[in-house]
Amino acid sequence: MTDCIFCKIVNHEIPSYKVYEDDNVYAFLDITQATKGHTLLIPKKHVTDIFEYDGDLAATVFACVPKVARALEKAFPEMEGLNIINNNKEMAYQSVFHSHIHLIPRYGKSDDFS
Ligand code: ADP
Repeated sequence: MTDCIFCKIVNHEIPSYKVYEDDNVYAFLDITQATKGHTLLIPKKHVTDIFEYDGDLAATVFACVPKVARALEKAFPEMEGLNIINNNKEMAYQSVFHSHIHLIPRYGKSDDFS
């Protein structure tokens, strides 16, 4: 999709900090770090939200969540927990309409995400 910011990230038309990549998915640091290491996992194929996934794409993308989690655990060994969030449609606080999964590392009660 030509005017989608996350398609542009996948196509390297705008910069991002890569966390994980394979043929079907791309994971990169969120520009607004809710906590250190806050990462977005996206399908390379443009789908707007969860309602546009077919079963194969869902299996492919969601199977990568533990891989990205382990990459974050390795990069941030002080991490004590991880929130996984997926917002779908404006009513549910989605603001970028290329489906993505937030992985938000937690560092104990003193981190700044609630
Ligand atoms: P929300 O803004 O409520 O978190 P989403 O779930 O749609 O809604 O999340 C979109 C995320 O995309 C935001 O956390 C935002 O910081 C992030 N974002 C927007 N533009 C970029 C970008 N160029 N690079 C990395 N992350 C981005």
